[in-house]
Amino acid sequence: MSAEFDRKIHTTLADANLQLAIYTATGRLKEKRVESVSDSVLPDYQELRTQANAIKKHAIENLDHYLEEFERNVEAHGGKVVYCKDGTEVADFVLALAKERRAQLIVKSKSMTTEEIDLNERLEHHGLESVETDLGEYILQLAHERPYHIVAPALHKTRYDVAEIFTRRLKIPNEIVIEKQTAIARGVLREKFLAADIGISGANFLVADSGAVVIVENEGNARLTTSAPKIHIAIAGIEKVIPRAQDVVTFLKLLARSATGQLLSVYTSFLSGPRRPGEIDGPDEFYVVLLDNGRTKLLPDRSKRESLYCIRCGACLNTCPVYRKIGGHSFPWVYSGPIGAIITPQFMGVAHEPGLPFASSLCGACGEVCPVKIDIPKILLELRSEVKKSETREKQNRLEKLAFRAFAWLMTHPRLYEMAGRIAAAMAPPGDGAWIRSVPAPLNVAPVKAWLSQRDLPPPPARSFRQLWRER
Ligand code: SF4
Repeated sequence: MSAEFDRKIHTTLADANLQLAIYTATGRLKEKRVESVSDSVLPDYQELRTQANAIKKHAIENLDHYLEEFERNVEAHGGKVVYCKDGTEVADFVLALAKERRAQLIVKSKSMTTEEIDLNERLEHHGLESVETDLGEYILQLAHERPYHIVAPALHKTRYDVAEIFTRRLKIPNEIVIEKQTAIARGVLREKFLAADIGISGANFLVADSGAVVIVENEGNARLTTSAPKIHIAIAGIEKVIPRAQDVVTFLKLLARSATGQLLSVYTSFLSGPRRPGEIDGPDEFYVVLLDNGRTKLLPDRSKRESLYCIRCGACLNTCPVYRKIGGHSFPWVYSGPIGAIITPQFMGVAHEPGLPFASSLCGACGEVCPVKIDIPKILLELRSEVKKSETREKQNRLEKLAFRAFAWLMTHPRLYEMAGRIAAAMAPPGDGAWIRSVPAPLNVAPVKAWLSQRDLPPPPARSFRQLWRER
């Protein structure tokens, strides 16, 4: 684990207000999800998950075919598809278009893909104004922060934090009433929508057989972003393509439920091409930017390419005991939680943060809630093995290896294991698991201390399971 990762985790753990904010917000989302997928509300939930997994598997295995079909259909409706290798190519495309059309102001709706490539920063560096219009994203843009959560980006901010940010950045009196804060943001953003030259959105799904970009949202800002300005650019990862319009139904039944516990998001938009003659709104120009940015590297690996099935619902974050303690900003890239722990090392390389695949208790909760059935724990184990293989001999922790070898030996010798258990039970001090952190010398060396600093170990029970079993 890098010192930076470790530092951020400790800072988050030490902040009691932040801990409460994360725990409360994720807890609420978690409970709502459970209610909305319960047997009485959605009896075919498990079948829908299986269906969604099969659709994604098929789409990813035939990605070239469906991307070409999508491109043909977008162009048939008067739009244009642009393939980009990375963030530089996306920024170059947007900047060239903005220059040609003399555009100055861009409005943006929420998109993790554009966060991934730091699009706002790249555009602002070249003198364009790019304004986030999702309320959470807008707050974070004013605060110069990146999203804390893939669905609820400002989940860590209280209304008092928001009041302070608005006062400082918008030069307005302190306002702590949430409805009034929303009205303030709406007032500012309305002006931006009306004056914007370009609207940039993400995409939840790209439908191959109709060339449609599907966007799911609650605030209506994506609708304004994609219809008020003269130019609409949708930026999406190549993995967002699905074969048929009818497949959208399966995902819509799962996405909002998994994300926020809603049966359906407030707005679902199907956008295909620029405004047709006679239509009252919509852009004059319509572009879809398909971004690779490391995704094609995952395709050859049958198991790890499952990561590309993700529909960014955030359910795995809300249920993850690690995310709920260390929060979103401890993670080394824009994607946090279990999905971040598997895609960051694959997109950026395992050396980017070698500790990331290990930041999991492997409890399996993420895999159980994932609406597209990504086997996250299995991928984490594969990534751990990759990290270990990539370490040089000198970097490998000899003590840890020795300890695991001894443990493996003990586990394969039941009598000795039982005897060790009895000795441990007789020697362990009473109380909670904190005793393990004050183990005496000679075990009190740095690597052991580091290992124990993060872990509690409940004292062994006076009588083991084997003893109880025999007695019964
Ligand atoms: S990995 Fe699954 S649960 Fe996590 S965000 Fe993606 S789709 Fe949702």
